[in-house]
Amino acid sequence: MITCSNYIDGKWIPSSNGEAIESTNPATGEIVCTAPNASLDEVQEAITTARMAFESTTWAEDSETRARVLYRWAQEMRNKIDELARLLTDENGKILSDAKGEMGRAIGIVEYYAGLAQNVMGKTAISSPNFYSFVLREPMGVVGIIVPWNFPAVLMVRAVAPALAAGNAVIVKPASYTPGINYTMIKILTDMGKVPHGIVNFVAGKGSIVGAELAKHREVDMVALTGSSETGKSVMKAAAETLKKVSLELGGKSPNIVFGDANFDKAVRYALKGAWMSFGCQVCYSGTRILLDNKVHDQFVEALKTQAESMKLGYGANPGVDMGPVISQDQVDVVMDFIDVGNKDAKLVTGGFKVEEGDLSKGFFVAPTVFDDVPVESRLSQEEVFGPVLSIFRFDGVEEAAEIANNTLFGLAAAVWTTDINKALKLARKIKAGTVWINTYGKLPFQAEMGGHKESGVGIQYGQEGLNEFTQLKHVGIDIGD
Ligand code: NAD
Repeated sequence: MITCSNYIDGKWIPSSNGEAIESTNPATGEIVCTAPNASLDEVQEAITTARMAFESTTWAEDSETRARVLYRWAQEMRNKIDELARLLTDENGKILSDAKGEMGRAIGIVEYYAGLAQNVMGKTAISSPNFYSFVLREPMGVVGIIVPWNFPAVLMVRAVAPALAAGNAVIVKPASYTPGINYTMIKILTDMGKVPHGIVNFVAGKGSIVGAELAKHREVDMVALTGSSETGKSVMKAAAETLKKVSLELGGKSPNIVFGDANFDKAVRYALKGAWMSFGCQVCYSGTRILLDNKVHDQFVEALKTQAESMKLGYGANPGVDMGPVISQDQVDVVMDFIDVGNKDAKLVTGGFKVEEGDLSKGFFVAPTVFDDVPVESRLSQEEVFGPVLSIFRFDGVEEAAEIANNTLFGLAAAVWTTDINKALKLARKIKAGTVWINTYGKLPFQAEMGGHKESGVGIQYGQEGLNEFTQLKHVGIDIGD
């Protein structure tokens, strides 16, 4: 079991109020980590520390050091990738191969932003005789980073790496289900002894205390949250008091649209892969709404049912397991509530129950569930379940597919499966989402920008723009005339 502390002003500090948060393995019920449940005073101390470090050290101006630190952090994590992946599986339940994939991706993101750290560039404009304009790109200052539990490694570094590369000081708040993995990654960074004290801080605790204070406090210049749309709205309201910049990556209800002329076998395979059924669809961009061309509907549903029923559930570190648990009993209750909605509004194809055979009774397992003919106005069609439940819809032609695809408040991602490139490109333009895949699902190269449209978010992650997100521009005008 891991015992985490908070990291403030270059020191690891155990819980000051004696309160603790425990993370448990959702597949076995065993305790994985205990972390502090930080008080308001502790968050405020971290904010003051970060402000002082940002103002008084050379971190913001020394891009060579920032690049070296990030490269070395990536290297140190790579040396421990197996240990980190196993901790990730134990803390949030994803199967080990997915956890290794997440750790590899997290390390790749750190390396990518290490490469960009020395490319934080402004520009110069000469607008009239004797006048120069410099536009400097500067760090925001102090950035609060609030992390969810589902991809804690990737989603922490997706903000921490560009924020540090751009020269900011950061305060990281992990999710209460997964403090252990974030603590371990931050400890690897701080143990290197290369980051000035106060530039990196780690404060574990409740969203309503630690997260809310990061969103509200005047000395925090920017808050970056990955979480639910509901939390995003609350953070945006709190941040409005000081008009601080927000970067919000939020929920989704993404459509996966299959035409009759698509590569059938690949589309079926990716229906489960794109929904991240192996992780109980607990992914922001899970393709949980499957839109089927009437021409292939019946065959597709049958093939999907066969594949879903062949999945082996279990503890993700065990060989042969295809799918892990959902994160908690509370989440099982939420999922079962949506299954009730599905049973009333739609047609159950497979699943629809909590799995409690043998050792699975110790964890939070729900069978892969598919509902067909889900009405678009059903809650099952409109709300994020964050559990292994897929909804199927039928359509005829591009217009109807686009209409169903756009009929939610979210706009995170979508996919179109067809061999007709004109049809694919027409739909790619009609769909209101930050990412549209054609003949694949879920590939997010960290060189390419992504972000949510509609209620799926505000701001950009990944790519050069993902670095710029953590900067602000300053115009310096110079008159060189007499
Ligand atoms: P959540 O919104 O419950 O929590 C996210 C983080 O916010 C946690 O650290 C939590 O403690 C904190 N928090 C909670 N209330 C807060 C408040 N009032 N003020 C400040 N911080 C607060 O989300 P979750 O359950 O951890 O993660 C799942 C959600 O995240 C899903 O909706 C999913 O779609 C979304 N998500 C989005 C992306 C993306 O890139 N768009 C990626 C992963 C997850």
